[in-house]
Amino acid sequence: MSLEDAAESVRVCSQCALCETRTNAVPGLGAGSSGVMFVGEAPGRSEDLRGRPFVGQAGRILTEALRAAGVSRDDVYITNTVKCRPPSNRVPRQSERDACRAHLEAEIRILRPLVVCVMGNTAFGSLLGGAGITERRGSMVRRAGMLYYPTVHPAAVIYNPSLAGVLEGDIRNLFGVVERIRAGEVVDAPEYTP
Ligand code: SF4
Repeated sequence: MSLEDAAESVRVCSQCALCETRTNAVPGLGAGSSGVMFVGEAPGRSEDLRGRPFVGQAGRILTEALRAAGVSRDDVYITNTVKCRPPSNRVPRQSERDACRAHLEAEIRILRPLVVCVMGNTAFGSLLGGAGITERRGSMVRRAGMLYYPTVHPAAVIYNPSLAGVLEGDIRNLFGVVERIRAGEVVDAPEYTP
C-alpha cells in the first residue's frame, strides 16, 4: 500500500459517525524525507473545508516552529489521530480514535519514520496511552521499538502564546536528535509505560 492508497482509504472511510458530519476527510500529507511524522488531534474547521491537515492557525504556528528549526514543512509528514472533524471541534471520543487507529497505523507502517512527534494530550493518549505528556514533553521515549517525541499541540499556543517558545524549542531539540540518529548514534530513550 502506498501513502496515496492510504489517503484514498481515509477519503472514502465511513468507519465511525464522524463521516456523517464532515465536509472532507483529512488524510495525512507531506514527505518522509526528514524522518519525522507529526501527529495532532483532529482536523478543525479550515482542515475540514480544504481536506488538508494543519492549514488553519495551528498549522501556521507549526510551520513557523519548523521554519525556526530550519526545517521545511514540505519535508515532514503531518497527520492526526482521527481524520474527520469532530462537531464543534470537541475532543474525539475514544470510540472514534479506536475506529481511526488503523489509518494512523497504516501511515506509520508505510512511512517508517525515525521519530513520531506526538502533539498534545489526545495524540499522546492515543499513541502512548495514559496522560503523561507534561512529564514527557520535550524528550524521546521508546515504545514497541518506535521512538516517540511528545510536545505541546500548536493550537495550545493560540490560547497561551508563552507556549510558542516551548514548541519551537522542542522542535529544534527534536531535529537535533534526529541528526544524531542519522549519524548512527543510539539515543537515550526510556521505554514508556503508561
Ligand atoms: S474519523 Fe477516521 S474512522 Fe471515522 S470516518 Fe473519519 S476516517 Fe473513518
